[in-house]
Amino acid sequence: MSDKQDFDLIIIGAGSGGVRLARMSAARGARVAVVESRYLGGTCVNVGCVPKKLFVYGAHAGEDIEDAAGYGWNVPGDQVSFDWTRLVANKNAEIERLNGIYGRMLDNAGVTVIRGTASLTDAHTVVVGDQVYTAKHITVATGSWPVIPDVPGKECVLTSNEMFYLPQLPRQAVVWGGGYIAVEFAGILAGLGVETTLLYRGDLFLRGFDDDVRKFTAEEIRKKGVNLRFGVNIESIESDDTRYNVNLTDGTRLNTGLVMAATGRRALVDGLGLEELGVQLSASGHVVVDDHFQTAVPSITALGDVIGTPQLTPVALAQGMVLSNRLFGDGKGDMDYTCIPTAVFCQPNIGTVGLTEAQAREAGHTLRIYRSEFKPMKHTLSGRDERSLMKLVVDDASDRVLGAHMVGPDAGEITQGIAVALKAGATKAQFDSTIGIHPTSAEEFVTMREPVA
Ligand code: NDP
Repeated sequence: MSDKQDFDLIIIGAGSGGVRLARMSAARGARVAVVESRYLGGTCVNVGCVPKKLFVYGAHAGEDIEDAAGYGWNVPGDQVSFDWTRLVANKNAEIERLNGIYGRMLDNAGVTVIRGTASLTDAHTVVVGDQVYTAKHITVATGSWPVIPDVPGKECVLTSNEMFYLPQLPRQAVVWGGGYIAVEFAGILAGLGVETTLLYRGDLFLRGFDDDVRKFTAEEIRKKGVNLRFGVNIESIESDDTRYNVNLTDGTRLNTGLVMAATGRRALVDGLGLEELGVQLSASGHVVVDDHFQTAVPSITALGDVIGTPQLTPVALAQGMVLSNRLFGDGKGDMDYTCIPTAVFCQPNIGTVGLTEAQAREAGHTLRIYRSEFKPMKHTLSGRDERSLMKLVVDDASDRVLGAHMVGPDAGEITQGIAVALKAGATKAQFDSTIGIHPTSAEEFVTMREPVA
């Protein structure tokens, strides 16, 4: 490594991937700096996974209180109330604590944290304000940012970024989109008592998930009171400061107290000067890299949301480890994007790993499908009309389980373990010979015997 430069590695962006790359590389003896213009921990810690999950717990607590009645608790409805400002304040305190932990982790690892907005002036030089820094390697880990479709009135539309700091909850809200964030926020808002409408332009939301999961989730979410409207989009929005008229493509109009867009996220590359240096951007605006995170400029690499791989924290963390090993380790190891488990923290949760039934059929597999729908034991006494779904997609010839899908309480927790089995190539016979844990919902994954298709 050259001593002529200030650092061996400058990382732009202190999100999940950037911080992991920084720490792993510093631990290998590299001189590392991270430039960050906003908050340590990136989207995940500040305006993503972590505060979202805290809000999901908050929203679910209301149901838990109601459910307690069936278990003998006296819960007079008129004495139960919810304080949004307290939830936000408590969430903010937790995020501040995590920001502190991230700062200390970087300090302890010997990583230099540079506060400010970076731009690249050549293949080895990063400018932050009036400071100039040079490095042998530069990694772009700047993440992504919510996109609001270009309709008249878009300036009054909020995104997940603002929702985490909303001063007060409206009585009604419109959530625009049908992906992870829309479905999760619709659940949060409805759970906290907001009259919520979710608008999705296609026939059925959660495109890319297994069709049974999509249909089942729609039914369950409707039961929770969310007004799901599919096959419709927003044409324009008019605002009178406190209320919004949302004009829809089907000619109808909604009057609401808040409009939130969850219509995807774009790569955050503004002002970096990448293209001027020869770094290519794809048609969707992502930084183009090869399998080793290498851009078209030899000294510049990129990872995380900005390169358009699945926008998931654990993916960015894994990429950070692989890239660190390539730059400062033995260079071995590649990313494996198969069998990435994921959860949508709607209510009830979705957990999924491997192929959907449609993907498996498209790939040419002859399948056996196992499916089970049931009322979770908890709701026998709570009386809540909530059901769970489990589904296994099995290759008939090899008996290998290609996909596992679940909708139900703790689906994320359960799917993580199932993901290990799928990654290891488990067969349906191995699922069947695994003893269940009784009584749990999870045991259903090892007790489904009769294929439904
Ligand atoms: P997604 O890409 O998941 O969903 C975007 C949604 O917006 C889709 O339903 C899409 O419709 C719709 N949409 C896009 N453009 C328009 C438009 N012009 N008009 C109307 N609708 C539109 O993005 P999200 O913003 O929900 O989340 C971004 C990413 O963040 C996710 O893909 C995921 O990787 C990650 N994430 C992960 C979470 C988790 O792990 N639990 C939680 C939250 C986010 P269509 O389907 O028709 O294209």
